[in-house]
Amino acid sequence: MYFPITAGVFRKHVGDVKAVDNVSFTIYEGETLGLVGESGCGKSTCGRAILRLYEPTAGAVRIDSKDVLAADADTLREMRPKMQMVFQDPQASLNPRMTVAAIIGEPLDEHTSLSKKDKLARIYELMDQVGLNRDFANRYPHEFSGGQRQRIGIARALALNPKFIVCDEPIAALDVSIQAQVVNLLEELQDRLGLTYLFISHDLSMVRHIADRVAVMYLGQIIELAPRDPLYVEPLHPYTQALLSAVPEPDPEAEKTRRRIILKGDVPSPANPPKGCNFCTRCPKVMEICRQTEPTFHEVQPGRFVACHLYQETAD
Ligand code: SF4
Ligand code: MG
Repeated sequence: MYFPITAGVFRKHVGDVKAVDNVSFTIYEGETLGLVGESGCGKSTCGRAILRLYEPTAGAVRIDSKDVLAADADTLREMRPKMQMVFQDPQASLNPRMTVAAIIGEPLDEHTSLSKKDKLARIYELMDQVGLNRDFANRYPHEFSGGQRQRIGIARALALNPKFIVCDEPIAALDVSIQAQVVNLLEELQDRLGLTYLFISHDLSMVRHIADRVAVMYLGQIIELAPRDPLYVEPLHPYTQALLSAVPEPDPEAEKTRRRIILKGDVPSPANPPKGCNFCTRCPKVMEICRQTEPTFHEVQPGRFVACHLYQETAD
């Protein structure tokens, strides 16, 4: 059984800073879990730690009942093809000196022993799948638009038939006009190939479009996790409420009554997080207990998790 993937309590230290702390969630087969939050909150670190592109200092990520974080090099090599990443900046993640065919073929070279002919056939198949013209196989990344470059990155990620893909801000570097095309492509590929996504983004409207469930991060922690609609309609955590209050409503009637919650102050440094609740220095609903005791992340309604004293069963 490959799924669910469970990730729990890993700590990633950057120098003395805990970039990610007490993060815990599960990803189910075939779903898209959106991971949102402002830049610097630890979203990418979290995604990379799951694929072990970073070495977290503690915790467990279970994929295929194997602990990714404890896996030795051989086991990891075996698992690698099944979990891939699509990066934010296709410009930076594609080698400018390699042709498209070489870029897409690289994982095939590393993990398969396909003949030259079969490899080329697979490269063409992947180019078709992501909507790239086969005639461009011998061109270089700079000859493509940003959207096409992201298609190259997606084709490379698909080369080894992965089950799980971490999409780290896959559209953030693209023109608004082509963002939807790339998101639609990702959705199409998910349906056709039965993929599971962790979709990392600060674009809450896009996440509402693509995600089945959404996790919200603040200062290295997941503070709320819920199915998409309940989260967007009735966010529980004061931070989620503030984040969503900044997103324009598609319905003009609802937009008229939207009340923006402006947060005071800046996000504290992860090197020096506040005592108690991480959000207590900025929370409009802060209480005495919040400055003393860290709230636990727990299930408050079926499938809805939140870390906030407003929702603790007992006021201990
Ligand atoms: Fe605000 Fe307190 Fe809840 Fe933290 S625990 S989000 S400070 S109400
Ligand atoms: Mg990031």
